[in-house]
Amino acid sequence: MTTSRIAARVRRIKPSPSTSAADRANELRRQGKSIVNLVVGEPDFDTPAHIRRAAADAMDRGATRYTLMAGTVELRQAIVAKLERENGLRYAMNEIIVTNGAKSAIYNALAITLEPGDEVIIPAPYWVSYPDMVLACEATPVTVACPEANGFKLTPAQLEAAITPRTRWLLINSPSNPTGASYTADEYRALAEVLARHPHVMVMTDDIYEHIRFDGQATPHLLAVAPALRERTLAINGVSKTYAMTGWRIGWAAGPSDLITAMDTLLSQSAGNCCSISQAGAAAALNGDQGFVTESVAVYKARRDRTLALVNAIPGLSCATPPGAFYLYINCSGLIGKSTPAGKTLNEDGDVVMYLLESAGVATVAGTAYGLSPYFRLSIATAIETLEEGCARIARAVAELR
Ligand code: PMP
Repeated sequence: MTTSRIAARVRRIKPSPSTSAADRANELRRQGKSIVNLVVGEPDFDTPAHIRRAAADAMDRGATRYTLMAGTVELRQAIVAKLERENGLRYAMNEIIVTNGAKSAIYNALAITLEPGDEVIIPAPYWVSYPDMVLACEATPVTVACPEANGFKLTPAQLEAAITPRTRWLLINSPSNPTGASYTADEYRALAEVLARHPHVMVMTDDIYEHIRFDGQATPHLLAVAPALRERTLAINGVSKTYAMTGWRIGWAAGPSDLITAMDTLLSQSAGNCCSISQAGAAAALNGDQGFVTESVAVYKARRDRTLALVNAIPGLSCATPPGAFYLYINCSGLIGKSTPAGKTLNEDGDVVMYLLESAGVATVAGTAYGLSPYFRLSIATAIETLEEGCARIARAVAELR
């Protein structure tokens, strides 16, 4: 056997399961199958016109050169203003770095802090990339199962039990991908009490879905509830989901200046600044009219309500009402053990997802990818007709199980 020329830390990670599911759906589509794709986790709206215009203006006025590594002054000022206006948090410019999407902020924050063998606590279900990012840093993801009965949320007792002397980070994502679970101020307060006893643990809050909220509540920020954590918390966010700007690749981290400076150093040597034109667009998104946010959330909510009703009417499936984000994380325990018309037994959620894809042409992602089974995730960031067609197909396929 030849030794691999790919480093062990990279061989430990796998491609994103949602990308693989989308690839498989596209392959079947190419073969001529009719596929309802409910995999993708990105807004199906166009980026609002005033944002596109700001980017075009930036090109026209020559904002096409390198920017400061940490991001343009204009964009960082817009982020400072956003954090104060929307979250009640005060940051200085040198406590903010603009990154190539929130994804890059999370990865680079891990990369500058983790030593081999360090641990990162990740409540499950989790966004698929977290554990692999930790593995890529030669550290250990410590996943903690947060069952549906607890609203898919980490309890203080679970946090206390998961912390060891090697714990570096706790990763919190609220509202969450894939469940939409959102921590209340009281729940944050209780988690903060545990963290107060363990000053070596840092906290990363992934706030990317903060505005995709259906219950009329503002998403509380951990730091607004527990300001004492400020010196060990990194707040991650970006424009991808809120402003339908997934392709623009603008995210950021806000936190203590030593972390931000280390990220700046690593990124300056490995990636360079983010696209100057995208930065101009992102500044316009944060500073400009916020009407798009309210309008798109109303559309997501109508889709969520409709899809939830259709899914919950299918025997064997159930889904709790997600307060935020744009996914349904559907409990399929009622289908486990059943047989397909072809005589195959559905032993786990991966089998359910495969059956729905192959027999009904509906592409979803299995709960195994998110660390809590048996579930599958369906994205509601798609037209309501598509969601209705998908649910009708799922209902027919489920009715054929014995
Ligand atoms: N965090 C979560 C929980 C996400 O779902 C996503 C996008 N799928 C990201 C971060 C990454 O967002 P960005 O496009 O800003 O990199």
